[in-house]
Amino acid sequence: MSSEDSNHGDPGDRDAASVKIHRRALLFAASTPMLIPFACSRTDGNADQAAGEPPVASPVRTEGPDLRPFPPSFEPLVRIKVANTSRRSVELGRVEQRLWITMPDSESTGRAARGPVRIVRDDLGWSVRWSQRGRGASTRFTGAGPLAIASEDDQTEGIDFEGRRLQGTIRIVPIRNTDGESELDLVCTLRMEQYLPGVLEKELFASWRPATFEAQAVAARSFAVCERAFWLRRRHYDMVAGQASQAWSGGVASRRSRDAVASTAGRVLLWRGQVVPAYYSAACGGRPANAIDAISTNQVNRIAPLVVDAGTARRRCGCTTASPHADWRISVGEDAMLQALQAYGRRVSNRSLASIRGPVEVTVRRRNAAGRPIDFEIRGSGDPIPVVLSASRVRSVVADAGGRRSWKDGPRSACFELTGSEQGFRIEGRGFGHGVGLCQYGAESMARTGASNLEILARYYPGATVGVAWEPPARTRTTAS
Ligand SMILES: [Zn+2]
Repeated sequence: MSSEDSNHGDPGDRDAASVKIHRRALLFAASTPMLIPFACSRTDGNADQAAGEPPVASPVRTEGPDLRPFPPSFEPLVRIKVANTSRRSVELGRVEQRLWITMPDSESTGRAARGPVRIVRDDLGWSVRWSQRGRGASTRFTGAGPLAIASEDDQTEGIDFEGRRLQGTIRIVPIRNTDGESELDLVCTLRMEQYLPGVLEKELFASWRPATFEAQAVAARSFAVCERAFWLRRRHYDMVAGQASQAWSGGVASRRSRDAVASTAGRVLLWRGQVVPAYYSAACGGRPANAIDAISTNQVNRIAPLVVDAGTARRRCGCTTASPHADWRISVGEDAMLQALQAYGRRVSNRSLASIRGPVEVTVRRRNAAGRPIDFEIRGSGDPIPVVLSASRVRSVVADAGGRRSWKDGPRSACFELTGSEQGFRIEGRGFGHGVGLCQYGAESMARTGASNLEILARYYPGATVGVAWEPPARTRTTAS
């Protein structure tokens, strides 16, 4: 999660006049019977988003703690980056699929086309080619902005792209990479509830219990609400489909995934009326991490549901017995470790690390309340002052030292002990992933003993409540333009 540089404002400056009354102020507590008044949210034109177009141009207030927003009163659209290519062309749609192509930032009207379409970016804009009744057809859109492609038949039908079926409207966005070269980003824009089943599909095993799916649905929705609020006006997508945000199938999902999303529709995790960025990972190893240590130092992460309390170090999380990631062991040679440390030192212009010499000593400097290392001290031969690196940084250095083989050969988490020897380092670790918030294997082991999704959420986000931000989508859908 790369939200470190956000500046979140004072939550007190919100406009009290923006109350939406037609929303059911239903709230239920995950762990305690306490009911808190449901915070109202911005009136920033989100209602328009149900029309299937992203909220790019609307004049919206930008102040407010957008990393931990108030729950939106309308189901938001999310923008998921699914691909990036350095090629100038993209092929979309399946044979005979009716597509509608527009250039949202221009005056030009849209154009109907038949799949598959071949879209080529050139210096003046876009050219689109397809075949109709055996003949070639084409159209052009002039301008610098993105091109949007929607299925004319059914928004939920999906559009094929390189063997995947992607739901929502697909935008092809011209960008410049860090070297100044032209590239194209593919971004799907779709309703939150339409997006989430494809997340569950990739994040959980198909055989896992419905309660695990439901807890994961609430966590994934809360996380997505926070990411969207933060990125809405900062870049052209809210999340990527992958490890940097949440995995996403593109829309294809099983009955279990769809049911879990439907039965928790609109529900988000709240802490003091604002949405919790509900981070989650595969297995905490029985030693959960604080978000402030493992995700980012942004103060928004210093809230009770994301901090491991000294008294509640995770009592025998189910992942310590029911997960293939309970304990793992790897080793890294001394030379490989030295080279990885030096390379990292050069990358961040840290002279001590760039010139570090062996033998190297790596020791845990601080641990959190669960006993998980927060950071390490690294001392090379003859260095008077050790270098301090966060546990997650040491994890990525160790991964580099291992030469990036399969994930099984690398450090699965930043929760490990390092022991040096003549041959190198023995690394004994626990868990898989960053270890903050919901532990997926732990959630499943709770579900197997009959726990509900609320009980699971209460355990992994202590003190958070669950509130209904928007109603299940029984409303009439507005027409996509
Ligand atoms: Zn766990």
